[in-house]
Amino acid sequence: MKKNSKILLSDDEMPRQWYNIVADMPNKPMPPLHPATKQPVGPEDLAAVFPMELIKQEVSSERYIDIPEEVLDLYTAFRPSPMFRAFNLEKSLGTKSKIYYKYEGGNYSGSHKANTALPQAYYNKMEGIKRITTETGAGQWGSAMSFACHHFGLELLVFMVKVSYNQKPGRKLLMNTYNAKVVASPSTMTVAGRKVLELDPDSPGSLGIAISEAMEVAVQDPYTKYALGSVLNHVILHQTIIGQEALLQMEKAGDYPDVVIGCFGGGSNFSGIAFPFLREKLLHGKNIRLVAVEPASCPKLTKGKFMYDFGDSAGMTPLLPMYTLGHNFMPEKIHAGGLRYHGAGVIVSQLLKDGFIEAKAKMQRECFEAGVLFARTEGILPAPESTYAIAGALDEARKADMEGVSRTILFNLSGHGHFDISAYEKYFENNLPDHELTTAEIDDALSKINIPV
Ligand SMILES: *Cc1c(COP(=O)(O)O)cnc(C)c1O
Repeated sequence: MKKNSKILLSDDEMPRQWYNIVADMPNKPMPPLHPATKQPVGPEDLAAVFPMELIKQEVSSERYIDIPEEVLDLYTAFRPSPMFRAFNLEKSLGTKSKIYYKYEGGNYSGSHKANTALPQAYYNKMEGIKRITTETGAGQWGSAMSFACHHFGLELLVFMVKVSYNQKPGRKLLMNTYNAKVVASPSTMTVAGRKVLELDPDSPGSLGIAISEAMEVAVQDPYTKYALGSVLNHVILHQTIIGQEALLQMEKAGDYPDVVIGCFGGGSNFSGIAFPFLREKLLHGKNIRLVAVEPASCPKLTKGKFMYDFGDSAGMTPLLPMYTLGHNFMPEKIHAGGLRYHGAGVIVSQLLKDGFIEAKAKMQRECFEAGVLFARTEGILPAPESTYAIAGALDEARKADMEGVSRTILFNLSGHGHFDISAYEKYFENNLPDHELTTAEIDDALSKINIPV
């Protein structure tokens, strides 16, 4: 029998709705709180930074939300995205298990971030906004937003975490090519940035700092809004297109996963692939495990605390109930820049707390090793972030083999690593340090949160 490794959907089969898991959660997420009053924030509190349609999605408990026609048209340039059976990887492992992956790197941004960049730019445009500010860690989100904004005739100002700005000049140039302005963060453009630089002129920056800078600029002008590439409910909603497709593709393959895996920064690609499968478990009792893989140097899910904390370092966002390492936590300069975030999405945090999903932490060298094996067998160079999902999938296959069983494993390959080649160079030169946070460092970071709620 011919081994067909590629599982495709036609344009007509592409789902036309996003899935909102809030509708099906046994315990609904706790509300974001206003930092001054400690009262739940209402839509009007968010109106200074987000357009109304996205705020509606942020607080919605409708199970399905229609994807606008214009966004569907843009999606069809690169969606439905392919799913592959990793026959060659399986063979090199000698595993009895089946490994599938959904590939989100085949679009203009090189990652899943385009799935939410396009609708976010679209809704801002519809409400008369002229300019967007945003942050970017490794640069994938900034790239995704740059093209989306340019397409809709919006200006874009990107605060790029300084360590990535220096590690990945190619990403900055890609954003410039798509017509965005890119500033290294912390910058001298904002009060938040200047404060950080006063304390530490060599600060490598963090997503938390870059978010503060971008929000500070946005709140000063009614025609400027802010956009976030992960964490928030509406972002995760848009990413469910991944899992909605993956369910159909699994059906086409005549298979069903025992475990679904994603790497974890703020939670958007993991949630995007996992939530539609979790719906099948919650509503139809389909047995499945959902595993988020985070870096050992930024272990909010496995070692952080579930509590109200700020989403940014200066404390401009509402207080969010989430797993966090503290909003001033300064993650180690690992190469998976997109995973260097101190907190986690509110929905995914509640689901972890309630035991519906699992989390594990991994060191970067093991993940690069998994990434290189994947590149050599499947022919795609993974983004450093995505290597955490690959390493998680290898763990599952090895565990199944030790138990003498065959499992069906599905992971999300969130992006390609063509701009991360210098990180691979460091790995080959044996110059990529492992870093794991000690209990003392975690206690110290958590003790600084200090928010009485
Ligand atoms: C941004 C990014 C991540 C991490 O963000 P999530 O919101 O957790 O998905 C992972 N992989 C890639 C390729 C990214 O660009």
